[in-house]
Amino acid sequence: MAYKILLPPKIQLSDLLKELKTYCIPADLDMVRLAYDFAARAHEGQVRKSGEPYITHPLSVAYILALMKIEVNIVIASLLHDVPEDTQITLEEVEKNFGKDIASMVKGITKLGTLKYRGVERYIENLRKMFVAMAEDVRVMIIKFADRTHNLMTLSAQPTNKKYRIALESLEIYAPIANRLGMGEFKGLLEDLSFPHIYPKEYERVKAIHDKVVSSEEAYLEKIMEIMRKELDTSKINYFEVHGREKQLYRLFQKLTKKGWDSETIHDIVAIRVIVGDIGDCYATLGIIHRLWKPLKGRIKDYIAQPKPNGYQSLHTTVFCDDGKVVEFQIRTKEIHDEAEYGIAAHWHYDENGARLPNKEVNWAKELAHLQKDILKNLSDLDEMKVDFFHNRIFVFTPQGDVIDLPEDATPIDFAYHIHTEVGDKCNGAKINDQLVSLDTALKSGDVVEIITDKNRKGPSPDWMKLAKTHMAKVHIKNTLNSNKKSWLAAILPKKIKSEKSNPDK
Ligand code: MN
Repeated sequence: MAYKILLPPKIQLSDLLKELKTYCIPADLDMVRLAYDFAARAHEGQVRKSGEPYITHPLSVAYILALMKIEVNIVIASLLHDVPEDTQITLEEVEKNFGKDIASMVKGITKLGTLKYRGVERYIENLRKMFVAMAEDVRVMIIKFADRTHNLMTLSAQPTNKKYRIALESLEIYAPIANRLGMGEFKGLLEDLSFPHIYPKEYERVKAIHDKVVSSEEAYLEKIMEIMRKELDTSKINYFEVHGREKQLYRLFQKLTKKGWDSETIHDIVAIRVIVGDIGDCYATLGIIHRLWKPLKGRIKDYIAQPKPNGYQSLHTTVFCDDGKVVEFQIRTKEIHDEAEYGIAAHWHYDENGARLPNKEVNWAKELAHLQKDILKNLSDLDEMKVDFFHNRIFVFTPQGDVIDLPEDATPIDFAYHIHTEVGDKCNGAKINDQLVSLDTALKSGDVVEIITDKNRKGPSPDWMKLAKTHMAKVHIKNTLNSNKKSWLAAILPKKIKSEKSNPDK
């Protein structure tokens, strides 16, 4: 199962090298040995809360990344990630020994390391640092996720209040960011490792439901997968693998809560995943499944032609297999699969096709890092901020064809303020796909949006506060309304009014 990572009981350098050998050249392995020796010497004498030598931690972090076949430079940086923070060795010495690129990743992690504040302020500082790190070098986040994963795996050695804090932070900050970066595997790991510490009773209940289904279906699914492989062979479909997929526990918990804990209505606690060569093979495989078994009405989902807002792609179908047993199939290409498991990290994930082009997520992180500077000033806006960052995104177009990335349910008001404060303030109407619409219309992915402005307009209407979904639009509307109020006040009051904060967009 993809999201369960098992560490060797007494991890050794040889365990790491064995994993790396599957995708690295010998020269890389020499560099890894050097980094290990360097880190081991630096951490000499230090022990973890569990009593183990400290070096087992960076070694385990590197091992987790190697299991995911992450590019070797990132693995090397992960071996060194706690050196400048916890030892006498400086970043300069790391750079002298391992070069600029690795040293800059280690520096990024070190910057993320210390958090001064507590409570809400801590949450915000944490987010801010992560967005900055992400924008500077997203590889730093890949290391940070592996670091946090190992800390969660070894959480039992920590005192209770610290345990809870680390788990909550992982669930509320790290997992959503991993999700936004498309790193499904890390999101799953972080959630399932935090889950028992935050909701211990619910965790036991979910696990019992999960284990019961898995143990009763295992042998049966094995049989169905064998039939599937044979059919794919005879139909000459190019496929990589057919495997069982167990639903992640935290996801199952969320689904059970939504469905009133009726596990009978959940058909995807275990599913069969078929990984094939190309998109054509996906549809051909779906055809084979439907020829063999009768599909359940309304359960065929084509997320390849219409991806979910977070970019998820796959064909899903639920069928009645032999004896009327209900089984869900998920069909996708190898490329889609890697993208779903590793997301942004897929660019640094070893692949026989070589490196991939950077995609839109990198720009997204940069935009956020830029935005946060203005937004994070105001502590009371925490919830709105969460909506902006973690809500599903939609992609709409300007009439010129530029793509604008907005949260789901955003309105033309959000769009207008995203283009420019001036466009927002002068907005007098909107067209979606050439049709005039009211300003409360929810935008959908793919819409072409045109804002009609009126240069004589004095500014936003107070009602717009209700129509705006993005934090940025709300801040602008509030600012303009306030400054209008103030200039009115200034006119009737002789007293000096404190000057208004400058508009962040300008
Ligand atoms: Mn660490």
